[in-house]
Amino acid sequence: MTDARQGATLGQSFEYRIKRQRRKTIALHVLADGTVEVRTPNWVPKYELVDFVERRSEWVIQRRREVLKDLANQPTFCDGQYHRFLGEMFPLRLSTARRGHVDFRDSVFLVTLRDKDDPVQVSKVMERWYRKKAIELYEERMFACFEQFPDWFQDKYVIPEITVRKMRRRWGSCSRAGEVTLNLALIKMPIRCLDYVIVHELCHLEAFHHGKAFYRLLALVMPSWEEHENLIEQLS
Ligand SMILES: [Zn+2]
Repeated sequence: MTDARQGATLGQSFEYRIKRQRRKTIALHVLADGTVEVRTPNWVPKYELVDFVERRSEWVIQRRREVLKDLANQPTFCDGQYHRFLGEMFPLRLSTARRGHVDFRDSVFLVTLRDKDDPVQVSKVMERWYRKKAIELYEERMFACFEQFPDWFQDKYVIPEITVRKMRRRWGSCSRAGEVTLNLALIKMPIRCLDYVIVHELCHLEAFHHGKAFYRLLALVMPSWEEHENLIEQLS
């Protein structure tokens, strides 16, 4: 059984739903869509539940704020929705076709797919396209960035192989064997951010740790590196 109630504190309010279940304790949940739910044993009277929520309303408001912010940051995949590419936002235009395909033309993502009302399909087609673009562009920028390094560096090292991956916490990494992994999400950032991450990882070929030698080389190749690092922080 569920019913809706109103919770409030300091002028902020939220609705919540009471769900009576076979359980022993009362639990308060903020769900991924921002809904607040009180799960309670059958025997607890309503006034006790109201009191339970009131006493925790500050926590609920704080938690809801976080959940709703996450929700707003998640791109949705319907017609007209804007998506990032190289630091700018462009709209999706969805149409039906037998094959999933993305054509980026005149600042619009023209997306064709079997069922244009299926956001999961749209997100898959878009991700495949982002990945393809990332592989092409990262390779191209890797060559360009490598050429910015001094001659002794270019003689000493070979241009690394790149792996493109979705990464949660890092923009790039460089293994001891000299393989560079770059985050797929960089394709949504301005090219100067991508270049910064590539140059950063290339510096690791010479200096594996973030020590003096590392920063000396980084500043030599890219004097404005701090500016780019700050921009990545701001955009992510
Ligand atoms: Zn590093």
